[in-house]
Amino acid sequence: MPATAPRGVGHLRGDEPFPVAARRALADPQLRRNLGHATTTIRAKSGAVIDELPDWERLRAAGSAIKADVMARLPELLEQLEAAVTAAGGTMHWAADALDANRIVTELVAATGSDRVIKVKSMATQEIGLNEALHDAGITPVETDLAELIVQLGDDRPSHILVPAIHRNRAEIREIFLRAMPGVDPTLTDDPAALAAAARRYLRQTFLSTRVAVSGANFAVADTGTLAVVESEGNGRMCLTLPDTLITVMGIEKVVPSWRDLEVFLQLLPRASTGERMNPYTSTWTGVTPGDGPQAFHLVLLDNGRSAVLADEVGRQALHCIRCSACLNVCPVYQRAGGHAYGSVYPGPIGAVLSPQLTGVEDNASLPYASSLCGACYDACPVKIDIPELLVHLRAEHVAAQRRPSAESVAMAAAAYTMDHPALYAAAQRAARLTRLAGRRGRGLPPPLSGWTIGRDLPEPPAQTFREWWAQR
Ligand code: SF4
Repeated sequence: MPATAPRGVGHLRGDEPFPVAARRALADPQLRRNLGHATTTIRAKSGAVIDELPDWERLRAAGSAIKADVMARLPELLEQLEAAVTAAGGTMHWAADALDANRIVTELVAATGSDRVIKVKSMATQEIGLNEALHDAGITPVETDLAELIVQLGDDRPSHILVPAIHRNRAEIREIFLRAMPGVDPTLTDDPAALAAAARRYLRQTFLSTRVAVSGANFAVADTGTLAVVESEGNGRMCLTLPDTLITVMGIEKVVPSWRDLEVFLQLLPRASTGERMNPYTSTWTGVTPGDGPQAFHLVLLDNGRSAVLADEVGRQALHCIRCSACLNVCPVYQRAGGHAYGSVYPGPIGAVLSPQLTGVEDNASLPYASSLCGACYDACPVKIDIPELLVHLRAEHVAAQRRPSAESVAMAAAAYTMDHPALYAAAQRAARLTRLAGRRGRGLPPPLSGWTIGRDLPEPPAQTFREWWAQR
């Protein structure tokens, strides 16, 4: 089997199981208010622009089919991409895991002689812990996406794929800027326009004085070697065009065969994510153009457990994700617990199925259970990833991987045996009725089965069984 993401580097594993972290998050009313407000607003906006499109379902089906095709011939497409990027003047690097990718990027930056890099929002670099690796090498990374900058200055962790600082309100952001932003005006207010202007002043100066940039990529077109970054501030475009050297770190699953395929995703992504008809800044570049933009371009292709996900025919759907965050905004669990409870850089429903696969399910065993299986994520996903199916698949994998049988599996084996023996089954039904007399209605099961009834009412056994009713007739 291909290797999973290594331990001790990056941000795919939390320090504590989901229920423990979620319980703490639920006790924070400010966090719940921020999350509720933000997810409700984005959901309403997105729903309105999706309703405008008569062919939304056909677009979803097309997005899903393209991704399935990509997964079926990923090695071939990646080699095609490598050839096209190289022919256009770029340099390809293959990184088996986070350690590899961090080493490659750090060496590339060090070779330029720069001790600072600007970054455009990249989940892949958060996944591998690139900022920490750069720090260790004496290189300062500066996040330039506004929300990422807030997270970085606040010494915080992102909590949403699209809105990493969703857990912060404007008063908290003002306090972070006053505390950590170099050269900030001490009379700064919490007016959103004033906060944006303060960030712009700081970032402009940084853009103009930094010669190396690190970016992520939303898509890579195999047949032309073109990379695409989709963002809404314009800061990304400055990162991609102003420096001398551009280093892009991209997961291997982001490749698409052609521009025609890209067109489908550029319709799906903005409507499902920010609720916009068209994305505000879509930057595309192909290798190096003499005299225009960065004169050195490196593409680091990251595996870090993705080949292991690809090897699982059910699980590989998780690699179809285009990181729109629609599943987060509709998830009743995410809306209340927030992103930090998931431990990984990938929160919400997609995080609950992607992180355990990248790390191996034993390292994120609680995440597949962080769902009520209501199916809202599946309905919202623009590429039709069947997240509930994946959650159940991973739960089964987790149970199968346990050396000692769980209380649940013992109970299920006993139930299967009982149901296989009619006389025993009838006796069990009579015994279950005794619980009515014992007054257990509404109370939980005794240990070791009590975990199952923590969040559920124990149903009251009926006064008459089906067999008794049938016999009477
Ligand atoms: S799983 Fe689907 S809905 Fe969730 S972030 Fe990925 S593409 Fe968007």
